[in-house]
Amino acid sequence: MRTKKVTRHYCDHCSKGMFKKDAMERHEAVCYRNRDRKCHRCQFEDPQYSISPERRKAILEGDEKCQTKWGECPDCLMAMVIQHNTSLTPDIRIWDGWVQYDKDQFNADRDAWDAEIRDMRNEASKWRYM
Ligand SMILES: [Zn+2]
Ligand SMILES: [Zn+2]
Repeated sequence: MRTKKVTRHYCDHCSKGMFKKDAMERHEAVCYRNRDRKCHRCQFEDPQYSISPERRKAILEGDEKCQTKWGECPDCLMAMVIQHNTSLTPDIRIWDGWVQYDKDQFNADRDAWDAEIRDMRNEASKWRYM
């Protein structure tokens, strides 16, 4: 018989567990539940990609549909929604505090983001040669 003891690392913010410490450190940094997460998608390079307080309020209160607008970052929006939902107490959840960022919408928003970045890069390389 071979018995092997392994160390497993768990995320401080969600239930994810991993064997590799460096992989877990990378996950924790971007974990949607981490309130100090670093966003790999937008890197917060441009404040227009983070969600404005007005948009945040409108989405969380259900006045506007949960989807990205005006170049907002879909990963930052997802993190916002997940952090909002996990902060709710069970009795609020039964009522209407829960916000759903539809998976298809999220994927569509991510595709739109990627397409926009691609266009921007193409645009930039075009100018270089003019
Ligand atoms: Zn996590
Ligand atoms: Zn982001």
